[in-house]
Amino acid sequence: MIRGTVIIGLEVCKGCELCISACPQESLGLSTHINLNGYKYAELIKDNCTGCINCAIICPESAITVYRQPKPARKTTPAEVTG
Ligand code: SF4
Ligand code: SF4
Repeated sequence: MIRGTVIIGLEVCKGCELCISACPQESLGLSTHINLNGYKYAELIKDNCTGCINCAIICPESAITVYRQPKPARKTTPAEVTG
């Protein structure tokens, strides 16, 4: 089982929610706060990300970086990220 996590560029995010819809784990949600551009931004709301990169692929702003960590874990390596 691969575990993952995501880093979201909150000032780049435009709150389109595509990543939230694309996540099979329902790991993402929309913040109640807004960024400097006035958008609510996506954030990780559950610790169950599998590193599938669906969110990074679908994000039109290339705001998401996915990291994968195999088990047993020794180090975290960046996964492929496209937007
Ligand atoms: S990498 Fe996959 S499981 Fe993790 S937040 Fe993105 S869509 Fe969800
Ligand atoms: S797909 Fe990208 S721009 Fe849209 S809410 Fe997610 S992180 Fe923000």
